[in-house]
Amino acid sequence: MSMSGASRGTGRRTGSGAERLVVIGGDAAGMSAASQARRMKGPDELEIVAFERGHFTSYSACGIPYWVGGDVTERDQLIARTPEEHRARDIDLRMRTEVTEIDVGRGRVRARDVDSGAESWTSYDKLVIATGARPIRPDLPGADAPGVHGVQTLDDGQALLDTLARTRGRRAVVVGAGYIGVEMAEALINRGYEVTVVNRGKEPMSTLDPDMGRLVHEAMEGLGITMVNDAEVTKLLTGDDGRVRAVVTDDAEYPADVVVLGIGVRPETGLAKAAGLPLGNHGGLLTDLAMRVRGQQNVWAGGDCVEVLDLVSGQERHIALGTHANKHGQVIGTNAGGGYATFPGVVGTAVSKVCDLEIARTGLREKDALRVGLQFESVTIESTSRAGYYPDASPMTVKMLAERRTGRLLGVQIVGREGAGKRVDIAAVALTAGMTVEQMTALDLGYAPPFSPVWDPVLVAARKAAVKVRAS
Ligand SMILES: Cc1cc2nc3c(=O)[nH]c(=O)nc-3n(C[C@H](O)[C@H](O)[C@H](O)COP(=O)(O)OP(=O)(O)OC[C@H]3O[C@@H](n4cnc5c(N)ncnc54)[C@H](O)[C@@H]3O)c2cc1C
Repeated sequence: MSMSGASRGTGRRTGSGAERLVVIGGDAAGMSAASQARRMKGPDELEIVAFERGHFTSYSACGIPYWVGGDVTERDQLIARTPEEHRARDIDLRMRTEVTEIDVGRGRVRARDVDSGAESWTSYDKLVIATGARPIRPDLPGADAPGVHGVQTLDDGQALLDTLARTRGRRAVVVGAGYIGVEMAEALINRGYEVTVVNRGKEPMSTLDPDMGRLVHEAMEGLGITMVNDAEVTKLLTGDDGRVRAVVTDDAEYPADVVVLGIGVRPETGLAKAAGLPLGNHGGLLTDLAMRVRGQQNVWAGGDCVEVLDLVSGQERHIALGTHANKHGQVIGTNAGGGYATFPGVVGTAVSKVCDLEIARTGLREKDALRVGLQFESVTIESTSRAGYYPDASPMTVKMLAERRTGRLLGVQIVGREGAGKRVDIAAVALTAGMTVEQMTALDLGYAPPFSPVWDPVLVAARKAAVKVRAS
């Protein structure tokens, strides 16, 4: 159905008698929801209309650092499903079309064709809001100059690659040292740049405790990356050609031929807020366990635009991760398609890498535990990725937090080389199951010398934590 052919009235049923599901946002959460709803119901029962303001659907933003760094050679490798593939599954996908208003009372959305500016209303029986997150752009002089790039979308990735191809100088500054900042530092190192990372925090990777962030800091310096912590960017300087030439902090100036911004995201909930839908303390939409927007019968929301329940702290958080967005979409599509599914919450698991250094975390950091009033014991152990005598065994540091007295596992952070990162999944399962560190010591994990020491590093940490808990 063309844009102009969309129902302009407020009637909620299409001519065929099928219900209409409208989806706002055509990436991970939105198109997972649309695809799952289509699996649940055929087009004679459910019409699905999806609006996407950009050029791409169902793409992996997670792959952008590896595309920019050259590990992935073609942009299209990051696209899981094209608009044509979605349309072939009877999803009426309207690209370059931005929803500008949600009228919850009358069950309709207003959409604008981005290229022509033409606007029209489309009515819905069921609505999915999957508008994602918006990168934070610093409100600083020079922040919009040519040569300054975000990396949120495939278009952003292409623009950065175009700049890298055009720029003769080889100095890159990355602003922000969260996982996107460190992944982009790796990408630029791989492209042969001299990389400086300017970071507001005490240490990189603020999703870790500072003592574990320190290990990342040291390893990044070992890779030749200049790390600047505790620094506030005050402006970006431009040259005579108008292009960025330096990043200025409180007390220094860092020459730059290209600047990459990775200072975090906020939920994209402007439309939802204007429609009077409930937002939480972090600006994300609030949903129930079925991902239905609280107080609404026929409106669901998922992905980076919602807040999620942290199962360890019991509090709502905003965590922008593709792994959650895909699961939300699956749950929403099942429910919007007439079935039943729930998303119970998260334990806060994330993994990333910078060159061969793997960085992983799950559960609570020390400051998270303190904030919610949990008393804890904390241990840090050094071990190796393989049996010490086996070739290429590499060092690994595991930090573990357990609740005082009960011994309930609260969180794990791991920094190491090959094989370190995904070990955090053991802890993610233990957290989900509510295990104690004592129970973890008996986990029947696989062992052979090429894969781990006879006591896996996670179990070594659990043993040490159990001893401390018993003494507490
Ligand atoms: C560089 C990078 C690396 C990442 N790496 C990882 C990783 O390793 N692991 C991980 O789990 N996650 C990672 N992520 C996060 C992951 O990409 C996001 O969590 C995921 O894409 C969220 O999916 P979403 O559908 O909620 O939102 P988005 O992917 O942001 O999609 C929302 C879509 O809605 C569209 N939209 C918004 N408003 C409107 C409107 N009004 N009308 C029409 N369309 C609209 C947008 O154009 C967009 O396409 C990474 C992200 C980036 C940027």
